[in-house]
Order: sequence, then C-alpha cells, then structure tokens
Amino acid sequence: MTTKAAKLEEIKADIIAKNICPELAAGATQLVFGDGSPDAGIVFIGEAPGKNEDSQGLPFVGAAGKFLDEMLSGIGMDRANVYITNIVKYRPPNNRDPLPEEKQAFLPFLQAQLAVIKPKLVATLGRHSMDSLLPGLQISKCHGQAKRYSGQVYMPLFHPAAALYNGGMRQTLIDDFNKIPKVLAAIK
Ligand code: URA
Repeated sequence: MTTKAAKLEEIKADIIAKNICPELAAGATQLVFGDGSPDAGIVFIGEAPGKNEDSQGLPFVGAAGKFLDEMLSGIGMDRANVYITNIVKYRPPNNRDPLPEEKQAFLPFLQAQLAVIKPKLVATLGRHSMDSLLPGLQISKCHGQAKRYSGQVYMPLFHPAAALYNGGMRQTLIDDFNKIPKVLAAIK
C-alpha cells in the first residue's frame, strides 16, 4: 500500500512535471511543498513562500514562522504533529501578493494534499488561502470560527505576518489559535 508520505511526494513531483506557473518557478530557488506530519489532524495553509522559505525549501521558517511555532507550542503542538503548507508553492517576485491565476493553478494540488492527509481541521492563514478554499467570506468577520464546508471543517485565522507587528491583531490571532484544541476535540 502506498503510504501517505509517498502520495505527497507524487503530488510534489506532479507540480514539477506539469510545469505549474513556470514564470514563478523560474524566479524561485525551489518548490516549497509542505512540512510536518502526513498524519496530522490539522493543516495550516499560508499564502506563498517568502525569502527564507525559498532558500530553505520549507514553509514558515522566517519571522512569521517563528511566531507560528510559538503559537503552536502554546497549544502543546509542534511542527512534527501538524502539517504546514501554502496555497502558492513558489516564491512570488519581491514577495508580491499571489495572483488569482497562480492561486487557481495551485489549488488542485493543495486539494490533493488535503485529500491524502485527511485532517480533521484546516486552518487558513490570511485572506489568500481563505479565499481559495472558502470563497466569499470576510476574514474580519469569520476569523476564529470553525465552519464545515463540503464535508471539511475549516477555521480561518489572520496571517501571522500581518499580526506580528499589530498588537490588536496579534492578540486576536493568539486567542483564536487557543481555541484550536477544543475545536479539534469536538470534531468527530
Ligand atoms: N508567509 C506565508 O504565507 N507562507 C510562508 O511560508 C511564509 C510566510
């Protein structure tokens, strides 16, 4: 039987074989596919790799990633028992926002990752991953609230990079994050 890890490797290879977003790929050092456990009960989804992620090949390893690690540790978790990825898997030039067509191009691969991992909960980090998976919501109104959509439970969260230097948003993100264990425990 093919393991989840092997299936994830196939999805990664497929992105390269299908030459997804060749212009982004040409400007990036490498594909940043994901990090953590293929058996995770929760998957966190950010926007796109930044400079540090592009050079290390791992998601959320810069300042926003350190903040994410701190919040994970606050709820007794770490990278070894969650899974972290982004909607767009190559660093956009000069850290510009990902374009709608780039998010669209990567969406089937993100959905394939989720179909392999089958997490109880998907936490979107920021507007871009929320818009891709839960279209039509406003993050200011729905952050921290779990919702079931097409059989999957989601929790939209603010992006740690946006919240990092904004006191009010930072505390809101921490408060929302601290709801995760209860939400996970309540999902059958
Ligand atoms: N911001 C993101 O959205 N993703 C990363 O991997 C790093 C920073």
